[in-house]
Amino acid sequence: MVRVAIIGCGIVGASIAFELSNYPELKVTVFDKQPPAQASTGAALGVLMGVISHKTKGRNWQLRETSLQRYETLIPELEAMTGRKIPFNKQGILMLCAEGEDLSKWEKLKATRQSQGWDLEIWDLEQVRDRNPHLNLNDNIIAAIYSPQDRQVDPTALTLALVDAAKLKGVNFEFGVEVTGLMGGQDAHPTINLISCGTGILPVAEDCGTGILPVAEKFDWLIIAAGLGSSALTASLNQLIDIRPVLGQALHFRLQNPLANSDFTPVITCDDIHIVPLENQEYWVGATVEFSENGGEIQANAEMLDGLFKKAIALCPALAAATIIKQWSGLRPRPERRSAPIIDRLGNSNILIASGHYRNGVLLAPATAQTIREMILQ
Ligand SMILES: Cc1cc2nc3c(=O)[nH]c(=O)nc-3n(C[C@H](O)[C@H](O)[C@H](O)COP(=O)(O)OP(=O)(O)OC[C@H]3O[C@@H](n4cnc5c(N)ncnc54)[C@H](O)[C@@H]3O)c2cc1C
Repeated sequence: MVRVAIIGCGIVGASIAFELSNYPELKVTVFDKQPPAQASTGAALGVLMGVISHKTKGRNWQLRETSLQRYETLIPELEAMTGRKIPFNKQGILMLCAEGEDLSKWEKLKATRQSQGWDLEIWDLEQVRDRNPHLNLNDNIIAAIYSPQDRQVDPTALTLALVDAAKLKGVNFEFGVEVTGLMGGQDAHPTINLISCGTGILPVAEDCGTGILPVAEKFDWLIIAAGLGSSALTASLNQLIDIRPVLGQALHFRLQNPLANSDFTPVITCDDIHIVPLENQEYWVGATVEFSENGGEIQANAEMLDGLFKKAIALCPALAAATIIKQWSGLRPRPERRSAPIIDRLGNSNILIASGHYRNGVLLAPATAQTIREMILQ
């Protein structure tokens, strides 16, 4: 039996757990200091920008393509296994192009995608108006790109379904357990130091009167999928992988009445803002992209949220009459001075890192999980 520990149960850790659960020779335990889908994953909009992205080759395209393909089977598979409903929008993404946008780039991308077996359409304003009478196409908008095979998924519902499905296949989850450090960077059996917040997961530990149980455990493989927590864990091995936060704010709206054309409900994207249709005339709108100014903590910027709100209303005026039922922010894990995501081995050790997915963690989670499985079972 090969013992595998996964640290972190956001979308990435949960996807890896489910992927590995298909291999009975692996005994998998997932540790998280919180319940699942609380950190970056809990804030995400779940827009899967694969075909419509400008990545056309190499690892970046491969990960996108693998994920998009896997999502088509993964969602029904998880729903059937767990009985959970996972909201999955299969109506594509419609990206509005403003004046100054080089449409010849999109023509080129369309041809590339065609050769790769994917569809991408360039719509003139008439087509956009016809299918989306609720959008206000100001003089700035010149065309739109429609990507029918891109998707959007509810990241929290998906993560919870992955956890349930992995549990059914024997994966052990330990929530409320923080990993405080790692040892054995060069060792075939790396060790993790845990503190358990009173869930009593580890029989050898004794409650020291504080409800905190310090324990060390050995595994054959460790997978660090701890998002922004990954830096501290790698630092404990003296192999710092620097991952920094980029804040995003978003809004949840509810409309009184349906929009004019409620049959066609793709994600609408314009100027880096997504309008994400949900059920019951509800919408998510997001997200801002806010960096730390001097390396310190990032405070959510009220002006940027206001700008997001105004842009959304300019595009879809019906939102002005909608009720805002929630507003939130989250931190995206972005690798410093290297490209996202980081799916790698730490030196020659049996410690793998699957972190730093920045703005595309939901999109890239299935492909990340497959890559990690290949690294373990090579
Ligand atoms: C506002 C916003 C909108 C976004 N929209 C999209 C989108 O539309 N599409 C998309 O693909 N991506 C989107 N993202 C990005 C996406 O959310 C992230 O890339 C993704 O969630 C990262 O997942 P993760 O599992 O690596 O990290 P996380 O979800 O952050 O999970 C890490 C987990 O590790 C745990 N952990 C950390 N340290 C420890 C420790 N020492 N011990 C135990 N547990 C630990 C944490 O508790 C947490 O549960 C968005 C992000 C934000 C903030």
